[in-house]
Amino acid sequence: MLANEEEKPLAFWQGTDRHESREQKTLTIILKSAGCSWNRCLMCSYRHERYVGLSKEELAGRLIWQLRFVAAAIPIKDVEIVKLYTSGSFFDPDEVPCAVLEEAGALFRGKIIIAETRPEYVNEDILEDFTARIDDGANAKPLYVAIGLETTNDRIREKSIDKGFSSEDFNQAVRAARNAGVGIKAYLLMKPLFLTEKEAVSDMKQSLTDLSGVVDIVSMNTCSVQRGTDMERYWKQGAYRPPYLWSVADVLATAPMEVLCDPLGGGQSRGAHNCGECDRDIIDAIKFYSLSGDRSVIKAVSNQECPCREEWELVLSQEMPWCMPLTR
Ligand code: SF4
Ligand SMILES: [Zn+2]
Repeated sequence: MLANEEEKPLAFWQGTDRHESREQKTLTIILKSAGCSWNRCLMCSYRHERYVGLSKEELAGRLIWQLRFVAAAIPIKDVEIVKLYTSGSFFDPDEVPCAVLEEAGALFRGKIIIAETRPEYVNEDILEDFTARIDDGANAKPLYVAIGLETTNDRIREKSIDKGFSSEDFNQAVRAARNAGVGIKAYLLMKPLFLTEKEAVSDMKQSLTDLSGVVDIVSMNTCSVQRGTDMERYWKQGAYRPPYLWSVADVLATAPMEVLCDPLGGGQSRGAHNCGECDRDIIDAIKFYSLSGDRSVIKAVSNQECPCREEWELVLSQEMPWCMPLTR
């Protein structure tokens, strides 16, 4: 049985992204699905958004109506890139039945699609099939898989995030995507739990170096404290502070490639923040850089003066790591 016609996605909006060295019009859709099969990451609140107890047919029906709702609400012809997110993995067939991929392929044919998934669902056959549905010859690379790698450090991914996959799993997904002629976007996460500010900065610098030449697009998310997460519990106890915007600017200013970054919740206590006085300038510079690729503005704000800069430097030099056991 199909859902009713009022089924809506969790969110959808139009925007602009820098892609292939120019600004392109995007449509981002966050679909409500059967939910993430992993469902354990310490900072994730999306995993609570899911349909429960639906048959595959009912699930497919609800997702299809969500797509149709967006297609009726937005002039799709003006959109160049469609970014598809679920509360998990777009290419997990238990979460997003293949009838939904067929519908998305028909609705968004001719667009560039960037679809998020965990690496275990990057399957060559599924990607080739979906590419054939969306490819009308207009784009050299019509499909990108977006994977939340978060860091190239396996221990940090395991201990600070509980992500449930290794760098080798990611590399395997990269190989499968390349074999299918599909692009790769990697998401990094700046400052997950249990890292000092200095460790978080060096983790991102190392991750960016490691990813250089391996993936097509890198997007760095700055950690923000979402409601109902383990991270929120630690934050309320004073055991976690989101990154300083100084740190974010430092990482972006020295990155070996262009990096997309939209500091979610920036300037607020739950997001990347400084003292409150200088936050706006740095956030604006990050957004400008992310869209233009012009790094000079990031370098300029990185060197601007504010009393909280000394505080940040003190934190970098004095904050001590609190060890987690390597063995059980
Ligand atoms: S894999 Fe993604 S959706 Fe699933 S719990 Fe982790 S961050 Fe959340
Ligand atoms: Zn300041």
